[in-house]
Amino acid sequence: MTTDSQSKDFIRTIIDEDLKSGKHSQIVTRFPPEPNGYLHIGHAKSICLNFGIGAEYQNSRCHLRFDDTNPSKEEQEFVNSISSDVKWLGFDWGEHLHFASDYFDQLFDYAVQLIKLGKAYVCELSGDEVRQYRGTLTDPGQDSPYRQRDLAENLDLFQRMRAGEFEDGSRVLRAKIDMKSGNLNMRDPVIYRILRADHHRTGSKWCVYPMYDFTHCLSDSIEGITHSLCTLEFMDHRPLYDWVLETLATDNHPRQIEFARLNLTYTVMSKRKLMQLVSDGLVNGWDDPRMMTIAGLRRRGYTPASIRNFCSGIGIGKRDSWIDMGVLENAVREDLNELAPRVMGILDPLKVIIDNYPEDQVEEIEAKNHPQKPEMGSREVPFCREIYIERHDFLEEAPKKFFRLAPDREVRLRYAYFIKLAKVVKDESGKVIEVHCTYNPESRCGNSPDGRKVKGTIHWVSARHALDAEIRLYDRLFTDEFPDGNKEKDFKESINPESLKVLKNCKVEPGLAQVKSGANLQFERQGYFYVDPNDSSPGQPVFNRTVTLRDSWARRNK
Ligand code: ATP
Ligand code: MG
Repeated sequence: MTTDSQSKDFIRTIIDEDLKSGKHSQIVTRFPPEPNGYLHIGHAKSICLNFGIGAEYQNSRCHLRFDDTNPSKEEQEFVNSISSDVKWLGFDWGEHLHFASDYFDQLFDYAVQLIKLGKAYVCELSGDEVRQYRGTLTDPGQDSPYRQRDLAENLDLFQRMRAGEFEDGSRVLRAKIDMKSGNLNMRDPVIYRILRADHHRTGSKWCVYPMYDFTHCLSDSIEGITHSLCTLEFMDHRPLYDWVLETLATDNHPRQIEFARLNLTYTVMSKRKLMQLVSDGLVNGWDDPRMMTIAGLRRRGYTPASIRNFCSGIGIGKRDSWIDMGVLENAVREDLNELAPRVMGILDPLKVIIDNYPEDQVEEIEAKNHPQKPEMGSREVPFCREIYIERHDFLEEAPKKFFRLAPDREVRLRYAYFIKLAKVVKDESGKVIEVHCTYNPESRCGNSPDGRKVKGTIHWVSARHALDAEIRLYDRLFTDEFPDGNKEKDFKESINPESLKVLKNCKVEPGLAQVKSGANLQFERQGYFYVDPNDSSPGQPVFNRTVTLRDSWARRNK
């Protein structure tokens, strides 16, 4: 039984009923990716649903099954990435790692059985002809001239297809159902084709491969799946799913249930389009932190929990809808707000010289790792006469509400002292190159010495001790809310030119030389960042911005 009855969706309600009525005593689901690309956030919804159910219900489970029936597009690289992404999300298939290709012999036998039942025939129409004969939604289809072939001839031809006697595409095996059906999927669908392509698991053993609709239901049945959960576009395939299993009278007939796929604004989701971004060099690979792939999100700094929380938050429904990208970003913000230690880093440094601070003095200032969580402890950061602040935290002509460094205003340095502007140094072009300040020695630890109010607090790092670092500011990959929603426009035209800004000259607190790659942290007042595992080296971290502290897109859209 599920523990969280409040958030029960319609699928879990069906499962509860099936358990209660005794139809099933255990639940078996599966996640069936095709290994032709990396997993994306849409897949995460399906993974959380299927593996979530497998884990929630007593002695139940979820299988990971690769739907590898199309050798021309599938690769071991994708099998590996998909497996590690599912694991990273926190799920476990135990002993149930399966491949549709493991069933090729069984599937072939099932096809032979269909022929013997008079329910399948070898057809020699070309692909185009098959389409023409199929008809349309308004016109009924036409019988193939090969439909009435006798059983013996069909068996002989099918065996010879397998033996490699015919050319690719010259013949197919079709289920014999109903060319007048209102459902196009039932108009004698192709169930086997000839294809000479090396398969990543079966090599050159086969030159005939089963089609998805034939493979999927039978794989489900073979594995003892009880509930076969898929997205809404498979609703029209359900009659075929049921027809195959009924006609072959299999022992196990899983129930297919459709749910709404995840659609997310400001992104594209199909593997084909993600693949295009990679192959056109518009992003740096499948795990580019701007990609809505699991690998990209991981490298961006998303945590498994943030993705699981996102998926459970959006729920499971029966009608297609759109989720705003801000919802996903908020999920990671919430998780990182809890767990990410706070540190200080300057993205665009401006040097500040504190004139009345002793030249060779260095103080260790105590800084909290998480102001709301004392249990996360504190650390020491060095403070001395020269520090860096963020260039935008200083304005010579500041509006009234600018509570940062400006003439005649006092500002608090986080955990350190109050400072006041003394002098501005500019180069010939008028650009500010450094500013001089004075500090109030009695304001140590940011405490007000005489109860006077200082509204603004800014972050800083010691100039003498700072670690130079590269910081990558990632933003949404598309500026368009629906990048592939316009048929006239290529989705690649709405790529956000500011989706990546690389800052090479950043100054971060020196303790970060020891930060582990793969760590999440918050640069105070800037956002959440992730230590890039690929490009960081010992003592030389590279930080990827996961998300800003606040949703700037929501404001922009208003
Ligand atoms: P894409 O259309 O992005 O190429 P796909 O459906 O072809 O994806 P599969 O590998 O066939 O990719 O998908 C594996 C499982 O993930 C399927 O059960 C599919 O329904 C589910 N899935 C794919 N995209 C989404 C999505 N956006 N939301 C929910 N589930 C999805
Ligand atoms: Mg698919």
